Amino acid sequence: MQIKVASRLNLLPPYLFAELDRLKREVQQTGVDVISLGIGDPDLPTPAHIVAALKRTADLPVNHRYPDYQGLDRFREAAAGWYKRRFNVTLDSAREVCALIGSKEGIANFPVAVVDPGDIVLIPSPGYPVYYSGCVFNGGEPYYMPLRKENAFLPDLSAIPAEIVRRAKLMWINYPNNPTAATAELPFYRDVVAFCLKHSIILAHDIAYSEIAFDGYQAPSLLEIDGARECSIEFHSLSKTYSMTGWRVGFAVGNAALVGALGTVKTNVDSGVFQAVQEAAIEALTGGDETLHQYCAIYQERRDLMVAALGALGLQCATPRATFYLWVETPKGYTSVSFTERVLRETGVVITPGSGFGKGGEGYVRFSLTVPSARLREAVGRIQALRL
Ligand SMILES: *Cc1c(COP(=O)(O)O)cnc(C)c1O
Repeated sequence: MQIKVASRLNLLPPYLFAELDRLKREVQQTGVDVISLGIGDPDLPTPAHIVAALKRTADLPVNHRYPDYQGLDRFREAAAGWYKRRFNVTLDSAREVCALIGSKEGIANFPVAVVDPGDIVLIPSPGYPVYYSGCVFNGGEPYYMPLRKENAFLPDLSAIPAEIVRRAKLMWINYPNNPTAATAELPFYRDVVAFCLKHSIILAHDIAYSEIAFDGYQAPSLLEIDGARECSIEFHSLSKTYSMTGWRVGFAVGNAALVGALGTVKTNVDSGVFQAVQEAAIEALTGGDETLHQYCAIYQERRDLMVAALGALGLQCATPRATFYLWVETPKGYTSVSFTERVLRETGVVITPGSGFGKGGEGYVRFSLTVPSARLREAVGRIQALRL
């Protein structure tokens, strides 16, 4: 029988990384020691006290059963307590917090709860690809908000046509930003909240990188803005903060009706986060941030090394205050893909073409700082030999 998949799968963009994956295998097969600066997955291990909490609680039969989809009361209280300490934002843990099986799960499921066919979803470009897939899987129409260097990689709200604004149902923003590593401050959030309240647009903020920050920088929460709770939901993740990408745990906070609507979707499609993982997440959120600070110092050292070394090669990038990415302008004469391919083919260094995050990413490549300094130095040395 001929299998015909649902037409929504055809709405996904061609997988740009397929050709790069093939090229990477080809380079590897020639015996080259490939250095991957392509993926956003911490190389530093989950802090030991968090792993210990999992080991302790994995033995308990009470944790072997179906969890509640919205999370243990104590998990939600821990998340609310963390928001209070970190942002001075007070949340009702029963109504304004929902556990997620990683924030990607929540980001993908949220449009099921709020987007109807024909609704417009405002999506940053470049951006995390799940904003787009969540939109089109639910019949939404994406409208891209370009993130440009001239505007500090913030969307220009005044550039969105009135007709689009009228039909918009949902807007995604993400700061500290993947892939541009840009940060946003309270005046920006104030403007976006006012815009969304004025035009009745639901505002969703992906704050996965808030804790990966340098030079004493503290990223704000959208929910610090008066009125934000009337229209907003914020998606937080333990993945990057505590090097827990494989554990699958995060949470959504904000407007009770939005959090509740996401919960309604979740009761129908999943069965919650393994309780021992929630126990470990409680330990992460309440057990002190010593390791987090050590890890940020390590990323900061790598950042400084790379910004300086790439700059010496004439590759321009700003020094980011947060995230473990560098957003680097491609040299003249290259597209982001042609530059990525040349670097991979001739040096065995994997980086990510900006256009893989949407058209707005053309002209840039992303370097991840998720390998040790010695490997970063080796990578830059090889790129130097290209004499760009
Ligand atoms: C890594 C990442 C996430 C998702 O992380 P989870 O592991 O699913 O919690 C969400 N948004 C952005 C921008 C990311 O880079």
